[in-house]
Amino acid sequence: MRAEGERTAVVEAARRMVDSGLVINTSGNVSVRVGGTIAITPSRVPYETMTPADVCLVDIASGEQADGALLPSSELPLHLAVYGATDAGAVVHTHSHFATVLSTLVDRLPAIHYQVADLGGEVEVAPYATFGTDELARVTTRALAGRNAALMRNHGVTAIGPDILRALARAFTVEWIASVYWHARVLGTPTLLDGAEIERVAARQADFASRRKGRKP
Ligand SMILES: [Zn+2]
Repeated sequence: MRAEGERTAVVEAARRMVDSGLVINTSGNVSVRVGGTIAITPSRVPYETMTPADVCLVDIASGEQADGALLPSSELPLHLAVYGATDAGAVVHTHSHFATVLSTLVDRLPAIHYQVADLGGEVEVAPYATFGTDELARVTTRALAGRNAALMRNHGVTAIGPDILRALARAFTVEWIASVYWHARVLGTPTLLDGAEIERVAARQADFASRRKGRKP
């Protein structure tokens, strides 16, 4: 099977999305870059029974299906647009609860916690567009510019990363920050961190990451 490792990683990430409550039923979708193609979850297959062979391979440039008997996720245009516009190695799209709630209420998820630094700062909310359309792909990709996550109005979340674990971790981070913001707003007007502090945090995170890489095993 072509790209067996990547297809297996897609299945495992999709299962984690469901098991952790980021999505329900067959909503949400996951993809990873494999050279000039992507491995992406198929449409309407329950994650519990999905196998690596069910994962579709699609050419990024042409959008043509390169392997897999099933239909790719309905959000294929979104995934292809993100890979075309960024150097992302993986894309995770969820309908996680608090992030979706806030996507109906705010224009951006503010810096209520320093962990937004890993998302590229405050998270933009892309305007509403019908699911699976090129328009949704366009507005979401625009909201992702310079960032690692975007909310999608009345819909959900898209998170990206160099690999599937980082993209999934960021989808969890968005949901957690959305839940913190929601709970804080229920009780009052939360204090927020300013852009300078988020830049300081980002520099510090980058410094720790480079020191980890330099450490001998
Ligand atoms: Zn969706």
